[in-house]
Amino acid sequence: MSVLDNEPLMESELAEFIGHGELVPLLAALAHLTGDRRYLDLECRPRSVTVLGRPIAGASDDAALELAISGLKAISGSDPDFVGSTVDRELIEYLVGEPIDDGTEDMLRYQLGMPHDQGAPRWQASTSSDAGLSVAIIGAGMSGILMARRLDQAGIPYTVFERNADFGGVWYENTYPGCRVDTTNYIYSYSFATRENWTHDFSLQQAVRGYLHEVATEYGVDRNVRFGTELLAATYNEASCTWQLKLNGPDGPYDAEFSAMVSAVGQLNQPKIPDVPGLGSFAGPAFHTARWEQDVDLAGKRVAVIGTGASAYQVIPAIADRVESLTIFQRSAPWMEWTPAYTDEVKPGLRWLFENVPTYSQWYRAYQFWITADARRPYYTVDPNWDQPGSVSAENEELRQHLVSGLERQYQDRPDLLEQVIPSYAPYSKRLLRDNGQWAKTLHQPNVRLVSDHIEAIDEQGIRTSAEHVDVDVIIFATGFRASEILGPVDVTGTNGRKLRDEWAGDPKAYMGVAVPGFPNMFCLYGPNTNVVVSSSLFFFAESAANLVVSALEHLDKTGAGAVECTREALDQFVAEIDEASELTSWGASNESTWYKGASGRVSQNWPLRVLDYWSGTREFPLEKFQVLRPAVRDLEVAR
Ligand code: NAP
Repeated sequence: MSVLDNEPLMESELAEFIGHGELVPLLAALAHLTGDRRYLDLECRPRSVTVLGRPIAGASDDAALELAISGLKAISGSDPDFVGSTVDRELIEYLVGEPIDDGTEDMLRYQLGMPHDQGAPRWQASTSSDAGLSVAIIGAGMSGILMARRLDQAGIPYTVFERNADFGGVWYENTYPGCRVDTTNYIYSYSFATRENWTHDFSLQQAVRGYLHEVATEYGVDRNVRFGTELLAATYNEASCTWQLKLNGPDGPYDAEFSAMVSAVGQLNQPKIPDVPGLGSFAGPAFHTARWEQDVDLAGKRVAVIGTGASAYQVIPAIADRVESLTIFQRSAPWMEWTPAYTDEVKPGLRWLFENVPTYSQWYRAYQFWITADARRPYYTVDPNWDQPGSVSAENEELRQHLVSGLERQYQDRPDLLEQVIPSYAPYSKRLLRDNGQWAKTLHQPNVRLVSDHIEAIDEQGIRTSAEHVDVDVIIFATGFRASEILGPVDVTGTNGRKLRDEWAGDPKAYMGVAVPGFPNMFCLYGPNTNVVVSSSLFFFAESAANLVVSALEHLDKTGAGAVECTREALDQFVAEIDEASELTSWGASNESTWYKGASGRVSQNWPLRVLDYWSGTREFPLEKFQVLRPAVRDLEVAR
């Protein structure tokens, strides 16, 4: 069979199908396939748009469409595996719409997956090595599965310890109705395990969990995982340069020893229940969104949801129809970005392009990555001379006006609601939610009420605010997570008996989010300062961090050293740079209470620099930032 043979389409149908996808990556794919650079004609480049719908590059959508149709006709009937040219910088610059440097080119090649799986370690652990590397991975979610895959590729033995009964991490734990991603799955997926067959652009929780399970099984992680096993304590042994773990598994407590430990527990696994007076006195079911009680039937019940963040925004519309009444307790309103197709199924045209245009899905992924990567920086970067309340710069103000006009459109009949749903803080002080109109529709329902008064207490019957008492049958806490308490429940002890919880004191810091002084051979994925508010995907960040971990292990393997430990100077310098950059972001400048800030008030969770900076900083093992330790026993051997 050859390209387009099976479904010849009329020009109008082609145009419609093309409209379900993106023109820029389609033209790049056509130029790549045919080797014909005519498709890269900048006069005909479609416009790429940013958050405001403003073109950032390109000229003519109509001319681009014509060019794309002619291209699809040109490849019709050809061999589906043919590729007419190599991927060069001209092609990638076309995708981006502006000149790029070497680093950006590398990063986008990686996202393109040409060649496939560039993150795979290019070395194999030596079986005769004295290092005898073995790694404990804590957590079998997105990061843990990734780490396992990379170690397997490098030939390093590992065991994954997971407290839950299956793979998935947050996608296992969050089963609340309506739970889904807010980053399209074309980039919210591993670069080495991309999929074209998502049913939704923004998948529901079950699909993401299923994907993670599928990848873990495909790569054999299921053979090296201990489910139902919680890490209680981890102690670094300075003499042997090993980590000694105390675990509690299905058969009870046991000990294990590894040369390295990777925390893949992430940031969002410890639910935060606010300390409201009287909390324990409520007579009915009360639970957190991440601990959803499936056997509590909400039908016909008077339900309260506390919080209006990312989880609340998804769960509230999903349950509003079946409850008798729904009272939403809002402390501060969320900003939302208009995304009309947020809950829609993948459009047939996009599916058709994936099936019929070789390499299109790769160009599409790289394009999605790029337009959500650093293109939005001007909209959240602080202008120190800007003094208008509610925004941090002229661009941010422009975004604010754009978002406000979207809200005004949806609440024009309800000024009382409009007043409550317009946030007072600057956009991007928190992550924007995806707005397809479902929030406004739900708030308009007669059985739904938005309460913005301060919660004073909870009692047996319900919730008391500064203005009233609301009787309810069920309370749902959509109140977020204790994100800065990474590894909080685990007793982690590094060199000189130093405890990780004392080292961090509620304000976690790690070099590149990965390594901590005093804790040799301990590494974090989705560690401190690697969450993203605006850009890119956590998969990208985790893959970059995993690269740094694997390169550190490569150093151990090749040199026979016992451990590597990030120096205090390296961490201090890194944190100073991060903190300075954070102050120039909307979320860093904001006084809003967010999970982005640790106990000291500094932004401990988010990455404030460019996506490219994280990519560049994790490419190779930075030996100068680490000290190398050798086990005492080996020193003795050397001395003899
Ligand atoms: P969140 O976004 O931090 O929202 C917590 C909500 O609870 C906020 O509205 C907060 O109000 C409110 N709240 C907290 N303490 C309160 C108190 N004492 N009294 C009254 N209200 C209180 O938490 P989340 O919704 O669980 O989401 C956390 C993160 O998980 C997100 O930022 C996102 O990264 C991730 N997530 C992603 C998705 C997805 O779409 N993929 C879905 C869910 C979650 P304030 O705003 O005033 O603090």
